[in-house]
Parts: sequence; C-alpha cells; structure tokens
Amino acid sequence: AQIVQADFVKSSVKTEDCPGDGLPEFALVGRSNVGKSSLLNSLVRRKRLALTSKKPGKTQCINHFRINDNWYLVDLPGYGYASAPHELKHDWNKFTKDYFLNRSTLVSVFLLVDASIPPKQIDLDYASWLGQNQVPMTMVFTKCDKRKKKKNGGKRPEENIKEFQDLIQGFFETTPPWIMTSSVTNQGRDEILLHMAQLRNY
Ligand code: GDP
Repeated sequence: AQIVQADFVKSSVKTEDCPGDGLPEFALVGRSNVGKSSLLNSLVRRKRLALTSKKPGKTQCINHFRINDNWYLVDLPGYGYASAPHELKHDWNKFTKDYFLNRSTLVSVFLLVDASIPPKQIDLDYASWLGQNQVPMTMVFTKCDKRKKKKNGGKRPEENIKEFQDLIQGFFETTPPWIMTSSVTNQGRDEILLHMAQLRNY
C-alpha cells in the first residue's frame, strides 16, 4: 500500500476539467490549518509535493496528484478561512460541492478534523452535508499527538473525537470509518494507505 511515486498532474477549477482517465481517487478536505498539507506530505514522504498546491492561486483549485501511476490523491481547498471574503467562500463551496456530487471516480472523501480542539460547528456542518448527500466519507482526525492544554478546554484528542462522533451520528446510516493521525509521529499513515487500498479493491 506504500507510495513509491507521486506526481502533481493538474489544478482544476471545475469538475469537468479534472483528469478523465478514470483512475480512482480520494479527496482530502478540511478546515484551513487542520494539517492537510502536513498529512499529504507525510503520506507521500516527499516534503515539497504538497507545496506545489500551496502556490498562490492553486489553493483554491482541485489539485490532482497521481500515485503509483494507478490512483489519485486530490487536494481540495481548505474551508473556513477567517480572512476570505464571503463571496469567495461561497464560490469554493459551490465547486467543491459540485465535485463531491458529480465526480464519478471519487471513491471516498477524507474529511480532516483537528482532534486537539473541541468540535467546531463548521466541521460538523461539513460532515452533516456529506452524510445527508450520501457522499462516501472517511474521518481523519489530525494532530492526535497534541496533549491536553488548558486553552483547548483541557480535553484529550480521544475525548474531542468521541464528542465529534456523538454529534455527527444522526447524519449517517452507518458511522463512517475513522482514523487517528499525527504528521509529527506519522501515526495513522499506514492505516490511511491501507484503507485506501482496501477501498480501491471493492
Ligand atoms: P493546512 O492549512 O491544513 O494545510 O495545515 P498545515 O499542514 O499547514 O498545518 C497547520 C499547522 O498545524 C502548522 O503549524 C503545522 O505545523 C501544524 N500541524 C500540522 N499537522 C500537525 C500534527 O499532526 N501535529 C501537530 N502537533 N501539529 C501539526
């Protein structure tokens, strides 16, 4: 399940512009600052790869990375930027939603949620939207290495995760699979790759 090759293929602004070769893909999405680039880098073990998509202009696109010439990792724009103009936020929503609903080769959305802080409404809303639209989803909890701090409400990652799962339960017929990760310790890295391999073989 390891990644031996990773190539940046293209940035698209519309679902129709995405690669048309029919390879299966997994999309990573999460609130800005959730640790998405760090996770992407930890998955491909190449420090500079995700930075390609961090170049100005590329962060608002659908970025395709072809893995082992066999499947795609897709980096989607982070949501919930505090500084983004409302207009722009709305636009991102529209095209990522279109991508989720209409991209036929999308196997599963990997929704990244910061486990070092209590559940945030915007993440709950996102999960709820995916659940209600029956978009296949995997929960990825990030920053699980971060131990409790007073300013984070004094909760451990495990407690924040439990709370998040309790809050989204009603949106899903079956609880989505979930994986605890850390880009600092590489916790969950192999589990994610194995899970993706299993999903590809269904
Ligand atoms: P992005 O905006 O979602 O791409 O987030 P980044 O990957 O740029 O990470 C945002 C911040 O969180 C940076 O300061 C990272 O060093 C930090 N960070 C990311 N992943 C982890 C993690 O697993 N553990 C800890 N402790 N910090 C992390």
